[in-house]
Amino acid sequence: MTGSFTVSTSSRCQLIDITSDIQDAIGESKVKDGIVVAFIAHTTAGITINENADPDVKHDMLMHLEKLVPQSREFHHAEGNSDSHIKASMMGSSVTIILSDGRMNLGTWQGIYFCEFDGPRTRKVWIKIIEG
Ligand code: ZN
Repeated sequence: MTGSFTVSTSSRCQLIDITSDIQDAIGESKVKDGIVVAFIAHTTAGITINENADPDVKHDMLMHLEKLVPQSREFHHAEGNSDSHIKASMMGSSVTIILSDGRMNLGTWQGIYFCEFDGPRTRKVWIKIIEG
């Protein structure tokens, strides 16, 4: 099963928990055991798995990414969003998670985050669910 859903972001850099959106797609697919792949077809947004318990983790990740790769006039890319491209590559463009009994085998404190680095925009997340 292949599907997609949209994410509307509200600021330039933002982490949005999309775990329940992906779990909903798994539920609709009726697949119990296999893998799910979530893929981001954008060059200034990414996806990552990290803690979803303490919201300070999201804040600290964004703050430190901004310190590591600030917006800079030194970049050559004419769009002025080279920092967004670099941050997107640092996070990656896909995650793969094992499914058991219709649920993702995420750790207790793990959530799946859509990572916006050049918002606000409407973005698309692709989902592939493979039984096996
Ligand atoms: Zn660009």
